[in-house]
Amino acid sequence: MEEKQDIAMVSFSGGKDSTAMLLKMLEMDDPNYPVHRIVFADTGFEFPELYEYIKHVEKYIQEKYPEKGLHVEHVFSKKSWNEWFYGKVTRGKNEGNVRGAPLIVYPCYWAREAKLYPLQRATKECTIKYVGIAIDEKRRVSKTAKEDGIRYPLIEWGWTEEDAFKYLDELDMVNPLYVNFQRLGCFHCIKQPTSSWYVLWKKYPDLWAQAKHWDEESRRVSPMKHGMNQYNTLAEMEQKFADGFVPEGRRPFECNSCDAVSVYHDDQQGIVEMWGGEEELHSDNAMSCEINDPGNKSILEQFEWVKKDEQPEPKEWW
Ligand code: SF4
Repeated sequence: MEEKQDIAMVSFSGGKDSTAMLLKMLEMDDPNYPVHRIVFADTGFEFPELYEYIKHVEKYIQEKYPEKGLHVEHVFSKKSWNEWFYGKVTRGKNEGNVRGAPLIVYPCYWAREAKLYPLQRATKECTIKYVGIAIDEKRRVSKTAKEDGIRYPLIEWGWTEEDAFKYLDELDMVNPLYVNFQRLGCFHCIKQPTSSWYVLWKKYPDLWAQAKHWDEESRRVSPMKHGMNQYNTLAEMEQKFADGFVPEGRRPFECNSCDAVSVYHDDQQGIVEMWGGEEELHSDNAMSCEINDPGNKSILEQFEWVKKDEQPEPKEWW
Protein backbone atom coordinates (compact mmCIF):
# COMPACT_ATOMS: atom_id res chain seq x y z
CA MET A 1 0.00 0.00 0.00
CA GLU A 2 1.29 3.45 -0.90
CA GLU A 3 2.35 5.49 2.11
CA LYS A 4 0.51 8.75 2.62
CA GLN A 5 2.74 11.65 1.58
CA ASP A 6 3.35 14.47 4.00
CA ILE A 7 2.10 17.92 3.11
CA ALA A 8 4.36 20.46 4.79
CA MET A 9 3.40 24.10 5.19
CA VAL A 10 5.10 27.14 6.60
CA SER A 11 3.14 29.65 8.63
CA PHE A 12 4.74 32.79 7.22
CA SER A 13 4.11 36.23 8.73
CA GLY A 14 6.89 38.31 7.22
CA GLY A 15 8.46 38.57 10.67
CA LYS A 16 12.12 37.71 11.12
CA ASP A 17 11.59 34.31 12.71
CA SER A 18 9.23 32.78 10.17
CA THR A 19 11.17 34.33 7.27
CA ALA A 20 14.56 33.07 8.49
CA MET A 21 13.06 29.63 9.14
CA LEU A 22 11.55 29.47 5.65
CA LEU A 23 14.64 30.67 3.77
CA LYS A 24 17.00 28.47 5.74
CA MET A 25 14.89 25.37 5.11
CA LEU A 26 14.86 26.08 1.38
CA GLU A 27 18.60 26.66 1.40
CA MET A 28 19.21 23.39 3.27
CA ASP A 29 17.15 21.41 0.77
CA ASP A 30 17.05 18.63 3.34
CA PRO A 31 14.40 15.89 2.94
CA ASN A 32 13.81 16.20 6.70
CA TYR A 33 12.51 19.71 6.08
CA PRO A 34 10.17 19.49 3.08
CA VAL A 35 8.25 22.66 2.16
CA HIS A 36 5.14 22.37 0.01
CA ARG A 37 3.10 25.40 0.97
CA ILE A 38 3.73 28.88 2.38
CA VAL A 39 0.70 30.48 4.01
CA PHE A 40 0.29 34.09 5.13
CA ALA A 41 -2.73 35.15 7.20
CA ASP A 42 -3.62 38.64 6.03
CA THR A 43 -5.40 40.84 8.58
CA GLY A 44 -5.98 43.59 6.01
CA PHE A 45 -4.33 46.09 8.37
CA GLU A 46 -0.69 45.36 7.71
CA PHE A 47 1.77 48.13 6.88
CA PRO A 48 2.32 48.68 3.15
CA GLU A 49 5.96 47.67 3.62
CA LEU A 50 4.85 44.29 4.94
CA TYR A 51 2.90 43.55 1.76
CA GLU A 52 5.90 44.66 -0.31
CA TYR A 53 8.18 42.50 1.77
CA ILE A 54 5.97 39.43 1.32
CA LYS A 55 6.21 39.94 -2.46
CA HIS A 56 9.95 40.50 -2.17
CA VAL A 57 10.44 37.20 -0.31
CA GLU A 58 8.20 35.37 -2.78
CA LYS A 59 10.21 36.72 -5.72
CA TYR A 60 13.47 35.80 -4.01
CA ILE A 61 12.25 32.23 -3.51
CA GLN A 62 10.91 31.89 -7.04
CA GLU A 63 14.15 33.17 -8.57
CA LYS A 64 16.44 31.16 -6.33
CA TYR A 65 14.44 27.93 -6.15
CA PRO A 66 12.26 27.85 -9.29
CA GLU A 67 12.16 24.05 -9.24
CA LYS A 68 10.14 24.13 -6.00
CA GLY A 69 7.21 25.94 -7.62
CA LEU A 70 6.34 27.80 -4.41
CA HIS A 71 4.24 30.89 -3.94
CA VAL A 72 2.82 32.66 -0.90
CA GLU A 73 -0.86 31.88 -0.28
CA HIS A 74 -2.82 34.70 1.37
CA VAL A 75 -5.69 33.65 3.61
CA PHE A 76 -8.34 35.93 5.09
CA SER A 77 -11.12 36.20 7.61
CA LYS A 78 -14.57 35.08 6.40
CA LYS A 79 -16.19 38.02 8.14
CA SER A 80 -15.10 41.61 7.74
CA TRP A 81 -13.57 43.77 10.45
CA ASN A 82 -16.71 45.93 10.30
CA GLU A 83 -18.94 42.95 11.03
CA TRP A 84 -16.96 42.24 14.17
CA PHE A 85 -16.43 45.82 15.21
CA TYR A 86 -20.08 46.81 14.84
CA GLY A 87 -21.38 43.37 15.82
CA LYS A 88 -22.98 42.71 19.17
CA VAL A 89 -21.66 40.72 22.10
CA THR A 90 -23.55 37.43 22.17
CA ARG A 91 -23.26 36.45 25.83
CA GLY A 92 -22.02 37.52 29.23
CA LYS A 93 -22.87 40.71 31.06
CA ASN A 94 -22.29 42.79 27.93
CA GLU A 95 -24.65 40.75 25.79
CA GLY A 96 -26.30 42.96 23.19
CA ASN A 97 -23.64 45.68 23.38
CA VAL A 98 -21.70 46.66 20.29
CA ARG A 99 -18.14 45.34 20.56
CA GLY A 100 -16.09 48.20 19.14
CA ALA A 101 -12.30 47.70 19.21
CA PRO A 102 -10.77 44.53 20.65
CA LEU A 103 -9.73 44.86 24.28
CA ILE A 104 -6.09 45.17 25.21
CA VAL A 105 -5.94 42.70 28.08
CA TYR A 106 -7.74 39.89 26.26
CA PRO A 107 -7.02 37.87 23.17
CA CYS A 108 -7.91 39.98 20.20
CA TYR A 109 -10.98 38.87 18.25
CA TRP A 110 -9.28 39.97 15.04
CA ALA A 111 -6.28 37.70 15.69
CA ARG A 112 -8.72 34.83 16.05
CA GLU A 113 -10.85 35.69 13.00
CA ALA A 114 -8.18 36.93 10.61
CA LYS A 115 -5.22 34.77 11.60
CA LEU A 116 -6.12 31.72 13.61
CA TYR A 117 -9.23 30.50 11.81
CA PRO A 118 -8.06 31.20 8.24
CA LEU A 119 -4.82 29.31 8.95
CA GLN A 120 -6.76 26.43 10.44
CA ARG A 121 -9.13 26.26 7.47
CA ALA A 122 -6.40 26.52 4.86
CA THR A 123 -4.07 23.95 6.30
CA LYS A 124 -6.39 21.22 7.54
CA GLU A 125 -4.80 18.68 5.23
CA CYS A 126 -1.23 19.56 6.14
CA THR A 127 0.61 16.94 8.13
CA ILE A 128 3.62 19.11 8.95
CA LYS A 129 3.19 22.69 10.12
CA TYR A 130 6.31 24.76 10.59
CA VAL A 131 6.09 27.59 13.07
CA GLY A 132 8.83 30.20 13.47
CA ILE A 133 9.56 30.37 17.17
CA ALA A 134 13.16 30.95 18.24
CA ILE A 135 14.75 29.19 21.16
CA ASP A 136 14.53 32.29 23.35
CA GLU A 137 10.74 32.09 23.04
CA LYS A 138 10.51 28.38 23.69
CA ARG A 139 7.82 28.97 26.30
CA ARG A 140 5.40 29.63 23.41
CA VAL A 141 5.56 26.14 21.95
CA SER A 142 2.43 24.05 21.93
CA LYS A 143 2.16 21.23 24.46
CA THR A 144 0.62 19.00 21.82
CA ALA A 145 2.99 19.93 18.99
CA LYS A 146 4.08 16.39 18.25
CA GLU A 147 0.59 14.94 17.90
CA ASP A 148 -0.47 17.91 15.83
CA GLY A 149 2.40 17.73 13.37
CA ILE A 150 3.85 21.04 14.45
CA ARG A 151 7.53 21.62 14.12
CA TYR A 152 9.74 24.46 15.28
CA PRO A 153 12.85 24.33 13.07
CA LEU A 154 14.50 27.33 14.76
CA ILE A 155 14.29 25.52 18.08
CA GLU A 156 15.50 22.28 16.47
CA TRP A 157 18.57 24.22 15.26
CA GLY A 158 19.01 26.09 18.56
CA TRP A 159 18.54 29.44 16.81
CA THR A 160 17.87 32.56 18.84
CA GLU A 161 15.94 35.56 17.52
CA GLU A 162 19.29 37.24 17.01
CA ASP A 163 20.49 34.29 14.91
CA ALA A 164 17.40 34.63 12.74
CA PHE A 165 18.06 38.33 12.35
CA LYS A 166 21.74 37.80 11.51
CA TYR A 167 20.90 35.15 8.93
CA LEU A 168 18.47 37.48 7.17
CA ASP A 169 21.00 40.29 7.38
CA GLU A 170 23.59 38.11 5.62
CA LEU A 171 21.06 37.46 2.86
CA ASP A 172 20.14 41.15 2.81
CA MET A 173 16.57 40.09 3.48
CA VAL A 174 15.70 41.90 6.73
CA ASN A 175 12.17 43.29 6.77
CA PRO A 176 12.64 47.09 6.78
CA LEU A 177 9.81 47.52 9.27
CA TYR A 178 12.29 46.43 11.95
CA VAL A 179 14.05 49.77 11.55
CA ASN A 180 11.34 51.39 13.64
CA PHE A 181 9.37 48.54 15.17
CA GLN A 182 10.39 45.67 17.41
CA ARG A 183 7.47 43.46 16.44
CA LEU A 184 5.12 43.52 13.52
CA GLY A 185 1.34 43.59 13.53
CA CYS A 186 -1.71 45.59 12.48
CA PHE A 187 -0.94 49.30 12.16
CA HIS A 188 -3.87 50.10 14.46
CA CYS A 189 -3.09 47.34 16.96
CA ILE A 190 -4.60 47.99 20.36
CA LYS A 191 -1.61 46.32 22.00
CA GLN A 192 1.14 48.44 20.52
CA PRO A 193 3.28 50.67 22.73
CA THR A 194 2.90 54.45 22.56
CA SER A 195 6.29 54.66 20.85
CA SER A 196 4.79 52.75 17.90
CA TRP A 197 1.80 55.07 17.83
CA TYR A 198 4.31 57.90 17.62
CA VAL A 199 5.96 56.35 14.54
CA LEU A 200 2.53 55.82 12.98
CA TRP A 201 1.62 59.48 13.54
CA LYS A 202 4.95 60.76 12.29
CA LYS A 203 5.50 58.51 9.27
CA TYR A 204 2.07 57.31 8.17
CA PRO A 205 -0.47 60.13 8.31
CA ASP A 206 -3.01 58.18 6.24
CA LEU A 207 -2.84 55.12 8.45
CA TRP A 208 -2.90 57.34 11.54
CA ALA A 209 -6.13 58.92 10.25
CA GLN A 210 -7.67 55.46 9.80
CA ALA A 211 -6.61 54.38 13.30
CA LYS A 212 -8.02 57.60 14.73
CA HIS A 213 -11.29 56.92 12.95
CA TRP A 214 -11.56 53.47 14.59
CA ASP A 215 -10.62 54.97 17.95
CA GLU A 216 -13.45 57.49 17.68
CA GLU A 217 -15.87 54.92 16.33
CA SER A 218 -15.17 52.49 19.15
CA ARG A 219 -15.72 55.13 21.81
CA ARG A 220 -18.91 56.20 20.01
CA VAL A 221 -20.53 52.81 19.47
CA SER A 222 -19.40 50.69 22.40
CA PRO A 223 -21.04 51.22 25.79
CA MET A 224 -17.64 50.31 27.27
CA LYS A 225 -16.26 53.53 25.72
CA HIS A 226 -12.92 51.96 25.03
CA GLY A 227 -10.78 52.99 22.08
CA MET A 228 -7.66 51.79 20.32
CA ASN A 229 -5.40 52.86 23.18
CA GLN A 230 -5.99 52.32 26.85
CA TYR A 231 -4.49 55.58 28.14
CA ASN A 232 -5.48 58.32 25.74
CA THR A 233 -7.72 58.93 22.80
CA LEU A 234 -5.75 59.11 19.58
CA ALA A 235 -6.82 62.75 19.27
CA GLU A 236 -5.18 63.44 22.65
CA MET A 237 -2.06 61.58 21.61
CA GLU A 238 -1.95 63.49 18.37
CA GLN A 239 -2.05 66.77 20.29
CA LYS A 240 0.77 65.60 22.57
CA PHE A 241 2.91 64.62 19.60
CA ALA A 242 2.19 67.91 17.85
CA ASP A 243 3.14 69.79 21.03
CA GLY A 244 6.58 68.18 20.97
CA PHE A 245 6.05 65.39 23.50
CA VAL A 246 7.41 61.96 22.79
CA PRO A 247 6.77 58.78 24.78
CA GLU A 248 9.82 57.51 26.62
CA GLY A 249 10.12 54.12 28.23
CA ARG A 250 8.53 51.27 26.42
CA ARG A 251 7.66 47.66 26.56
CA PRO A 252 8.17 45.27 23.71
CA PHE A 253 5.21 44.91 21.38
CA GLU A 254 3.56 41.95 23.05
CA CYS A 255 0.87 40.72 20.77
CA ASN A 256 -0.28 37.96 23.07
CA SER A 257 -3.36 37.38 20.96
CA CYS A 258 -1.31 36.91 17.88
CA ASP A 259 0.67 34.35 19.80
CA ALA A 260 -2.45 32.34 19.12
CA VAL A 261 -1.14 31.87 15.63
CA SER A 262 1.78 29.90 16.96
CA VAL A 263 -0.60 27.24 18.23
CA TYR A 264 -3.27 27.46 15.55
CA HIS A 265 -2.98 23.89 14.48
CA ASP A 266 -3.52 21.80 17.53
CA ASP A 267 -7.25 21.61 17.69
CA GLN A 268 -7.06 24.92 19.44
CA GLN A 269 -5.45 23.33 22.44
CA GLY A 270 -3.37 26.36 23.23
CA ILE A 271 -6.21 28.64 22.31
CA VAL A 272 -8.63 26.84 24.53
CA GLU A 273 -6.21 27.43 27.37
CA MET A 274 -5.98 31.09 26.48
CA TRP A 275 -9.69 31.68 26.07
CA GLY A 276 -10.83 29.33 28.75
CA GLY A 277 -12.73 26.75 26.73
CA GLU A 278 -13.96 25.82 23.28
CA GLU A 279 -17.30 27.51 23.79
CA GLU A 280 -15.61 30.69 24.84
CA LEU A 281 -13.81 30.84 21.53
CA HIS A 282 -17.05 31.76 19.91
CA SER A 283 -18.34 33.97 22.63
CA ASP A 284 -17.56 37.39 23.90
CA ASN A 285 -16.77 36.40 27.39
CA ALA A 286 -13.84 38.74 27.45
CA MET A 287 -16.18 41.66 27.01
CA SER A 288 -17.65 41.05 30.41
CA CYS A 289 -14.28 41.53 32.11
CA GLU A 290 -12.72 44.72 33.37
CA ILE A 291 -10.05 46.34 31.24
CA ASN A 292 -7.75 46.75 34.21
CA ASP A 293 -7.85 43.17 35.31
CA PRO A 294 -5.04 43.02 37.88
CA GLY A 295 -4.09 39.57 36.62
CA ASN A 296 -3.08 41.05 33.29
CA LYS A 297 -0.83 43.87 34.42
CA SER A 298 2.15 42.29 32.72
CA ILE A 299 1.05 43.55 29.35
CA LEU A 300 0.42 47.11 30.47
CA GLU A 301 2.83 49.70 29.24
CA GLN A 302 5.12 51.86 31.35
CA PHE A 303 6.02 55.16 29.79
CA GLU A 304 6.14 58.87 30.42
CA TRP A 305 5.71 61.86 28.18
CA VAL A 306 8.91 63.82 27.70
CA LYS A 307 8.94 67.26 26.14
CA LYS A 308 11.60 67.59 23.46
CA ASP A 309 12.62 70.71 21.60
CA GLU A 310 13.45 68.59 18.62
CA GLN A 311 11.35 65.53 18.03
CA PRO A 312 13.41 62.51 16.98
CA GLU A 313 12.84 61.45 13.43
CA PRO A 314 11.83 57.83 12.98
CA LYS A 315 14.41 56.26 10.71
CA GLU A 316 13.89 55.95 6.99
CA TRP A 317 12.71 52.78 5.34
CA TRP A 318 14.38 51.29 2.35
S1 SF4 B 1 -3.58 41.66 18.47
FE1 SF4 B 1 -3.00 43.45 17.29
S2 SF4 B 1 -1.71 42.73 15.58
FE2 SF4 B 1 -2.83 40.95 16.43
S3 SF4 B 1 -4.68 40.82 15.13
FE3 SF4 B 1 -5.21 42.00 16.98
S4 SF4 B 1 -4.94 44.13 16.33
FE4 SF4 B 1 -3.85 42.84 14.84
